[in-house]
Amino acid sequence: MIKINIPGKDETLAIKHLVLDFNGTLATDGRIKPGVAGLLEKLAAQLQVHIVTAGTFGSVDDEVHGIPCVLKILSGADQTGQKARYVEELGAEHTACVGNGRNDRDMLEKAKLGILVIQEEGAAAPCLLAADVVCRDIDSALQLLLQPLRLTATLRT
Ligand SMILES: [Mg+2]
Repeated sequence: MIKINIPGKDETLAIKHLVLDFNGTLATDGRIKPGVAGLLEKLAAQLQVHIVTAGTFGSVDDEVHGIPCVLKILSGADQTGQKARYVEELGAEHTACVGNGRNDRDMLEKAKLGILVIQEEGAAAPCLLAADVVCRDIDSALQLLLQPLRLTATLRT
């Protein structure tokens, strides 16, 4: 668990699960970005990492091999709803999520801490107000959890 104190909101975030979108968030063109695996390994020592994806590029299994995580491959319609329900089933109160696409909007809103990343693919505009924080890239997003004082500085009132 990662505990993060947010002054002014009078609460402490207690994050047990980290749910991540794959394409556009952890990966570009289906390939995981350099440095991401190492950051996820560090985070996996403190919380359960989950990767949820439609597997658009078909390379997810190979790309996440060796990363300590739960891999959830989505199929069928309403992937926005499937991602949001996944977060709810884990317990949204204790879950952080990171995504970039329109189908990440509802999980970003439901999770206690929603982080939107822009990167190469860009971020879907409807996600902007659903998220708590917007980061330029996945490295910055994961570092927020590894160095929570950064997050405190961003979210305090
Ligand atoms: Mg995406």
